[in-house]
Amino acid sequence: MTDQSHQFHRGFTPEQIDTSRPHPARMYDYYLGGSDNYEVDREAAERLMSMTPDVRISARANRDFLGRAVRTVVREHGIRQIIDVGTGIPTSPNTHELARSVSPDVRVVYVDNDPIVAAHADAKLLNSGNAEFVLADIRRPEEILEAPAVRELIDFDQPVALLLIAVLHFVGDAEDPAGVVAALSGALPSGSCLVLTHATLDFHDEWEVDGRADVYKNATAQLSLRGRDGILPFFDGFDLVDPGLVQLSRWRPDDPPRDAEPGRVALYGGVGVKP
Ligand code: SAH
Repeated sequence: MTDQSHQFHRGFTPEQIDTSRPHPARMYDYYLGGSDNYEVDREAAERLMSMTPDVRISARANRDFLGRAVRTVVREHGIRQIIDVGTGIPTSPNTHELARSVSPDVRVVYVDNDPIVAAHADAKLLNSGNAEFVLADIRRPEEILEAPAVRELIDFDQPVALLLIAVLHFVGDAEDPAGVVAALSGALPSGSCLVLTHATLDFHDEWEVDGRADVYKNATAQLSLRGRDGILPFFDGFDLVDPGLVQLSRWRPDDPPRDAEPGRVALYGGVGVKP
C-alpha cells in the first residue's frame, strides 16, 4: 500500500481504494485470518461469521480445494499456463506456488478487478517471475483476453487452466455469467482445464430464510448464490473429471482429509477438461 508508484503503474490511484464499503476480497482475507482488510470489511465479515462459523470453514476449504485442483491439473493434465481470474488478496500458498511445487515452469496470469489486489501483486505474486497481474473485470472477458500481459505470457495454442475460484458468485444473472465463462473458455485449445468453485445455499437451506447472505448487500459486489443446477452449465464444453461437481470438501480430499467437517462447506467445486 505504501509503494504508490506501483499503484499508478497499474492504472489506478490510491483514492480508488474504497474504505467506506466492504470489499469481497478484503472480507475473504479476513475469513482466512489475513490482515489486509479495513474496519468496514471486518464488521461485515464478523456479522456473517457471528451467525455461522461455516463461513470461515468454507473459505479455508476453498483454499484447500485450490491447492488440490491446481496440483491435479499440472500433474495429471500437463498444464503449464494458468489464468486465475478473481485472484483475491495474496494468501500463501498462491496459485503460482501451488503449480510450481509440481512443475517449476508454470506461467500464471492473475486477474482481479479490485485495486487492492493489484497493490499487493508485485511483492507477493509476481516476484519470482513468469507471472503477470491484470486489473480487469471478468464481466468484460474480451479485455482479459486482449490484455498485453495475457498475450505475452499465454500461448493459446497450448492447454491453459482457467481458474474461476470463488468469483462467479459475484456475477449476477443479468450480467450473463454463462456467457462470460463461454467467452473465456472459447479462447482455449483442446486439453485446457476449467477449475471452478461457487458459493451455494444447497447445504445451508436455513441461510436463505434468515437472510445471512444479505451481509454483502452494501459491499462493492453482491452475492449471487446458485444451486447445483445453476452452476453445472458453466462446464458446458468441458468433461468433468472425477468426482464431478461436488461440495468442494469432497473433491479428492487429502488422505487424511484436512476438513474436519466437510458437510459444512458452502461451496461447490469441480474441474473440467476441454475435449
Ligand atoms: N480466488 C481466490 C479469491 C476469492 S475472493 C480464492 O478463491 O481464494 C473473490 C475475488 O474475486 C476477490 O478478490 C474479488 O475482488 C474478485 N472479484 C469479484 N468480482 C470480480 C469481477 N467482476 N471481476 C474480477 N474479479 C472480481
